[in-house]
Amino acid sequence: MGVLDFIDTELQELQAQGLYIYIRTIESPQGAWITVQGRQVLNLCSNNYLGFANHPALRQAAHEAIERFGVGPAAVRTIAGTMSLHLELERKLAEFKRVEATLSLQSGFAANLATIPALVGPEDGIFSDELNHASIIDGCRLSRAQIVRYPHCDVQALEDLLRREASKYRRRLLVTDGVFSMDGDIAPLPELVRLAREYECILMVDDAHGEGVLGYGGRGIVDHFGLHGQVDIEVGTLSKAFGVVGGYVAGSARLVEYLRQKARPFLFSSAVTPPDVAACIAAVDILTESTQLVERLWENTRYFKEGMRQLGFDTGRSQTPIIPVMLGDARLATECSKRLFEHNVFAQAIGYPTVPRGQARIRVMISAVHAREDLDFALEVFRRVGRELGVVS
Ligand SMILES: *Cc1c(COP(=O)(O)O)cnc(C)c1O
Repeated sequence: MGVLDFIDTELQELQAQGLYIYIRTIESPQGAWITVQGRQVLNLCSNNYLGFANHPALRQAAHEAIERFGVGPAAVRTIAGTMSLHLELERKLAEFKRVEATLSLQSGFAANLATIPALVGPEDGIFSDELNHASIIDGCRLSRAQIVRYPHCDVQALEDLLRREASKYRRRLLVTDGVFSMDGDIAPLPELVRLAREYECILMVDDAHGEGVLGYGGRGIVDHFGLHGQVDIEVGTLSKAFGVVGGYVAGSARLVEYLRQKARPFLFSSAVTPPDVAACIAAVDILTESTQLVERLWENTRYFKEGMRQLGFDTGRSQTPIIPVMLGDARLATECSKRLFEHNVFAQAIGYPTVPRGQARIRVMISAVHAREDLDFALEVFRRVGRELGVVS
């Protein structure tokens, strides 16, 4: 008997429940078509909404940054790791998002861990949507504040909770995903702004799947609802629509100044590398200049979603380029993903614990890099596999 024997049992259980994650290896750049295990497949699972992950301008910017700045920041930012590039990115992001200031971090995950524990502690309460992203949940736990989960996007239930509980706490944080990453629905931000004001909550939205997607030219959920200046904190990622890697916090100058003093992932972990930062700057520049890619993304989204609905698939609550194909049973979802792959369509099955039990699905991610023929091909393969499995008639 070894002390790690429990691992074998747990892994076997995952396999038996159809919840074991098989990780595929990609041997090409991200794009509409990618090479997976020697095979060309249509890519329906990346967060590369705008095609920036392999965009010529971003590649060029990364090359040039290596020539000028090398490959590593070589320290945490407070000691000697802040380069002029990091500041340029923060300034350009702030202009793009129409906020006073931003702070760049290593990832969206790190941005949540940086922000939440700096704002609330054991005497405080966090009101959190039950489907919030794992990094929000972990940030909440790290803060040691009391966590009050409210039913998904249920404004009435949230208001009842606030009425009963809000006064118990020194400070209150109301936190939500902007676009929910597994269902593709959008948080009711105008109502949350109203409640945050009424119950004196700090309002924070994680716009990881909204930036580059929602709002004018991809400026995100706050722009989508016209709520500039009314949301205290936006957290974002540079690893999805922006196509690179990194995260950021956007808000007032004093918020960002405070986080520079207090946020632990900022103080104790090195910055993103020069080529990454330069590529992110190039992405922000492109989005600032043109709305064309974002428009393309939405055209593709409308076309594919309508096609799937006509075939009889259930696409759940999706309002965005995240399109869940609801199947229910985890083994059915895994089998569906496997058969799609056999027909050269790469779309991952998602099950518990990423989504609630009994709500397994294939999650399709649409991108501006998909051509119309690519989407037609995907629809045809979904039709065949859906019929084989008795999901559609
Ligand atoms: C993907 C995601 C993150 C994590 O972003 P990374 O930059 O990949 O760490 C955080 N929050 C939400 C809502 C996400 O969807």
